Amino acid sequence: MLNIVLFGPPGAGKGTQAKILADRYHLYHLSTGDVLRSEMSAGTPLGKKARGYVEKGELVPDEDVTEMLVCVMDKHPDAGGFIFDGFPRTTQQAKFLRKMLLEKGTEIHDLIVLDVEEKELVRRLLNRAKLESRADDTREVIENRIRVYKEQTAPVIDYYSQFGKYHPINGIGTVEEVHNRIAAVISQQ
Ligand code: AMP
Repeated sequence: MLNIVLFGPPGAGKGTQAKILADRYHLYHLSTGDVLRSEMSAGTPLGKKARGYVEKGELVPDEDVTEMLVCVMDKHPDAGGFIFDGFPRTTQQAKFLRKMLLEKGTEIHDLIVLDVEEKELVRRLLNRAKLESRADDTREVIENRIRVYKEQTAPVIDYYSQFGKYHPINGIGTVEEVHNRIAAVISQQ
């Protein structure tokens, strides 16, 4: 099994890169943001609860997201591995993931962090707002999501660093250039 966490601030390109990696390495692409958006549009109890957080750019509580993650993973017992996109977002979630994977006899192999400067993130997200209609892509919510990333999510990097799994990648360049940098890290497995 190959399990990769694709990490970085909102707008760093995680979703785009995760889809390409999932195809190339036959991994299941698990985006907690995508799962939450589909729960929201289906109007499930989780979706209704999550909406208030997502629309403000705040994190959905750990226990809801971890329960949801287990549920999705259990539906894919034959996956050759997972590419986690948007999870873990807190150190608590990272600890949960480590314990859960250990129980399955596996682990996270790499934390790949896409580094992109803040100005460029805002530019990309405002641009995406014109193409997709995501309720959390307004300037105010974008700025909050970046702040939440810095305060609550970036510490996850320290957690993986202690296991020697942290790989920073320059997230500026064409989709292919960034993909090749990520593939170079994965090929060291
Ligand atoms: P994303 O599509 O990854 O940018 O996620 C969109 C929104 O979903 C985030 O701003 C959070 O409100 C929520 N979300 C996604 N993943 C998580 C997570 N792992 N923990 C808490 N909230 C999450």
